[in-house]
Amino acid sequence: MSRLPNIAIDGPAGSGKSTVARAVAQRLGFLYVDTGAMYRAITYLALKQQIDLDNQEALGALAKGTRFSIVHFSQSGSISIWCNGEDVTPYLRNWDVTGGVSRVAEAAEVRCYLVRSQRVFARSGGVVMEGRDIGTVVLPDAEFKFFLTADLETRIKRRALEHCGDGRSIDTEELRRQLVHRDETDSNRTVGPLKIGSDAIVIDGTRLTVDDTVDRIVTLCQGRVA
Ligand code: C5P
Repeated sequence: MSRLPNIAIDGPAGSGKSTVARAVAQRLGFLYVDTGAMYRAITYLALKQQIDLDNQEALGALAKGTRFSIVHFSQSGSISIWCNGEDVTPYLRNWDVTGGVSRVAEAAEVRCYLVRSQRVFARSGGVVMEGRDIGTVVLPDAEFKFFLTADLETRIKRRALEHCGDGRSIDTEELRRQLVHRDETDSNRTVGPLKIGSDAIVIDGTRLTVDDTVDRIVTLCQGRVA
């Protein structure tokens, strides 16, 4: 039997890629891998261990010593992220984690170890992996590559809704500041920056529902999956 294809989905914060990637994986029966959650996990662990987020050497050592596992819940399509046997999922959306994650993601050594783990998850195919550098760096040979975008206001609204859904209060201005700052840092770093790969299909989700976007992706991929 031939190997199942991999699907790379990149895009900025709040573009809806997590929701879309999870739904695409569920529709196709693929594994869903949220690489942002892995960068968030290292940030959470670094904060817990009081590692200075500018100390790239210490962050690299932390990433090197962290074994990731992903637990999939087939009914909801959601996942939980475990690091060295600890379920870190409840902490990944904390403000301090969100505020610090782009600094951690700038560290070349952190990226090197996480990219390595991400490639292991995808080595047998049949993975929907989402992040910032999946189509360009992590899985340059992925059979399908998508780049999701949406205008800033839409992205802020989506993130605010996510936070409300989690039962947390939100400061929309702080959310805007964080999102703009994260976009800038993610797009301008030297290693694995957020950028549209020349071979990626760009989908602007500003005026599309999640279902529209999922349908579009599934239809494009289905010929190879069936
Ligand atoms: O996707 P999410 O917003 O959870 O990602 C959190 C952060 O992790 C991003 O802002 C980015 O700094 C980093 N990230 C990255 N490369 C990826 C995925 C996420 O640098 N592939």
